[in-house]
Amino acid sequence: MKNFRYQKASTVKEALAQLKAAGGAAKLMAGGTDLLGEMKDGIARPERVIHLRIPQLNHIQADSKGLRIGALTPLSQVAAHPQIKEGYTALAQAAEEMGSPQLRHIGTLGGNLCQRPRCWYYRGEFPCLKKGGESCYAVAGQNKYHAILGGGPCFMVHPSDTAPALIALGASVKIASPRGERVVPLEQFFISPRQDGSREHILQPDELLAEVQLPPPPEGSRSLYLKARERRCWDFALASVALVQTVKGGACQGARVVLGGVAPIPYRALKAEGVLKGKRIDEALATQAGQLAVFGARPLSQNSYKEELTRTLVRRAVLATT
Ligand SMILES: Cc1cc2nc3c(=O)[nH]c(=O)nc-3n(C[C@H](O)[C@H](O)[C@H](O)COP(=O)(O)OP(=O)(O)OC[C@H]3O[C@@H](n4cnc5c(N)ncnc54)[C@H](O)[C@@H]3O)c2cc1C
Ligand code: SF4
Repeated sequence: MKNFRYQKASTVKEALAQLKAAGGAAKLMAGGTDLLGEMKDGIARPERVIHLRIPQLNHIQADSKGLRIGALTPLSQVAAHPQIKEGYTALAQAAEEMGSPQLRHIGTLGGNLCQRPRCWYYRGEFPCLKKGGESCYAVAGQNKYHAILGGGPCFMVHPSDTAPALIALGASVKIASPRGERVVPLEQFFISPRQDGSREHILQPDELLAEVQLPPPPEGSRSLYLKARERRCWDFALASVALVQTVKGGACQGARVVLGGVAPIPYRALKAEGVLKGKRIDEALATQAGQLAVFGARPLSQNSYKEELTRTLVRRAVLATT
């Protein structure tokens, strides 16, 4: 690991001042469960590490406008919070699906959204596109875990469990910078490799993620997060689905379907949402929604299994929220 200067920040103002002073040579650390692995592997080589120890960013507050969750809130608290379990079930389930109990105690919601790709070429000693190299090793290499939707030129998959759930629930994020604060729909927070292969989100080097904001859930809606993985202990998603659905008298009034683990950013399955709306939910419609969720998929040589996996998850989620 390269030597670095360790700094603590106990307020947002202090963190922003330290970021500015570092002029792009610093990395923010929340729980450190992702960043420290990158540093030990020599992928991240910051001059400075700014440890966010900011009590104001560790909160869960509910009121009539919805829910606000500080970026430094540990995922174990998100998973166990009674109002999240009740009103934002998909988020509680997604947080509970992240890693192991130890990782959930130290890993934060903000870090979960800002984590870097898990592609094994990126994490290994391969100078791939994402590291400024000239090619994507996954295209002709081991691509079992890579993207089937929206990939190219990089075929990484978005690794966060909470991001699909938050997007399905209509979340926004509050971003703090020396220029003030801005609130952005989470759906617009992530950047696909086609837009910019070097980063995964819109944060500038002098900005930090401060808070996640959720509107009240639609009346009568139910939400669910389903994750398929190879192992029962900690593991990233082979495919996942977050679904928020409002059903009245057996018919779907509206649904939001967001996929994880199959595309470089959380993937909104708009065709599946479209086919559900206004229709009576039954096995056949749920199957059709599953099929449309992967419409246009272009699997690589070793990951076509993700199509069927995703179809099945969507079908099950539709039926389970009816
Ligand atoms: C063994 C193992 C298993 C894992 N399993 C899963 C899993 O199943 N699902 C999953 O989603 N993740 C998984 N992870 C990834 C990771 O642990 C989680 O995403 C965790 O929530 C990251 O949070 P953190 O606070 O530790 O982030 P950190 O490591 O502190 O930060 C991660 C990244 O986000 C940036 N960052 C952190 N906070 C902010 C902020 N407030 N503003 C701007 N940038 C910020 C950091 O600079 C860094 O680049 C796993 C990791 C390990 C090591
Ligand atoms: S999928 Fe992306 S991160 Fe992985 S090798 Fe290809 S360019 Fe690199």
